[in-house]
Amino acid sequence: MRIFEKSTKLNNVCYDIRGPVMDEANRMIAEGINILKLNIGNPAPFGFQAPSILLEKMSENLSKTEGYSDSKGILSAREAIVKYCKKKGIPNVTVDDVYTGNGVSELITLSLQGLLNYGDEILVPAPDYPLWTASITLAGGKAVHYICDEKANWYPDIKDIKSKISDRTKGIVIINPNNPTGSLYPKELLEEIVEIARQNDLVLFADEIYDRLVMDGLEHVSVASLAEDLLTVTFNGLSKSHLIAGYRCGWMCLSGDKSNAKGYIEGINLLSSMRLCSNVPAQSIIDIALELEEETKELLRPGGRIYEQREFIYNAINNIPGLSAVKPQAAFYIFPKIDTERLHIVDDERFVLDFLKDKKILLTHGGGFHWEKPDHFRIVYLPEISQLKMATDALADFMSYYTQE
Ligand code: PLP
Repeated sequence: MRIFEKSTKLNNVCYDIRGPVMDEANRMIAEGINILKLNIGNPAPFGFQAPSILLEKMSENLSKTEGYSDSKGILSAREAIVKYCKKKGIPNVTVDDVYTGNGVSELITLSLQGLLNYGDEILVPAPDYPLWTASITLAGGKAVHYICDEKANWYPDIKDIKSKISDRTKGIVIINPNNPTGSLYPKELLEEIVEIARQNDLVLFADEIYDRLVMDGLEHVSVASLAEDLLTVTFNGLSKSHLIAGYRCGWMCLSGDKSNAKGYIEGINLLSSMRLCSNVPAQSIIDIALELEEETKELLRPGGRIYEQREFIYNAINNIPGLSAVKPQAAFYIFPKIDTERLHIVDDERFVLDFLKDKKILLTHGGGFHWEKPDHFRIVYLPEISQLKMATDALADFMSYYTQE
């Protein structure tokens, strides 16, 4: 009898945010156990609501958006994205350089499938948003991880990046603001990364999906704005900033010098047309959404929900013996460190699994973000403070089992 195995193309492809620990949580949920899920950056289940104008416009548009669109997307959306790129100083972007997608996720995979040959290397941060590593592997490439330094606000370590470049390196991924650390990179650091890309002929892949979720009066700088002479692919979307992750609405744009990328662009166009187009009703609100910035920004100011939850989680984590965390400046994640020099924890996946079973709270282990040492985990701090308090009290209690050893 023929056995249907998974494709060998999937060897070494993993996406642990929705991996074995989440499978265990789902098993517990099926048994009727209530689980607090702090593992996925999905605002809607935590009472965040999309700006009502977006819902009105989308429903108004439903009858006009029944058909397929151009593979790259409808013109009004692409024009609005071009305008947004201009505002961010991203150079040399026309409507022809913009591709809408069913979330940024689809476009990450597509952009790598279109470029990589077997064995090509792409530099990816550690910790990373793991879809990048998974998509590089699936495309036949090799993700080479560069270290982000917790002691330096989780900024990329420039020396480490340089040391990881080989003659097979084709590009570098920059996730800014970062998931899972919540770090926001300063302009000077981005300039150093651009210089490395310049000297080594690398494509810059800039994942900036959290660029509108920045706190403390800081400004996000698009790396593409510093790289007029390089090919840059910038990714962005409405899932997080407009609290509509379920509508699947993202885009990517090619900027800078595209003169040496005709073949790559042909590949992207082919792959883009093979998936016909992205969800057209979701595209139809991009223009309005990008004019709405101020409304969503309220959440990030003192008194706003995300800001206050960030303050709470940061203080609560740092008050738990055995844990510490750098203060996130953007997005809605914190990436605490476990003091494994004092505490006997050797397997971070086991740690979050035990915590899940004991406290009915789901976290993601650091290894899920390609962090090598078993000493970190990620918390999504989207729930209300009352729920976060419950979670951090549970964590304090759970950590005390180890500190008493
Ligand atoms: N990039 C980063 C850094 C993310 O954190 C996420 C989702 O969590 C995505 C991309 C994918 O977002 P979407 O596919 O919803 O646009």
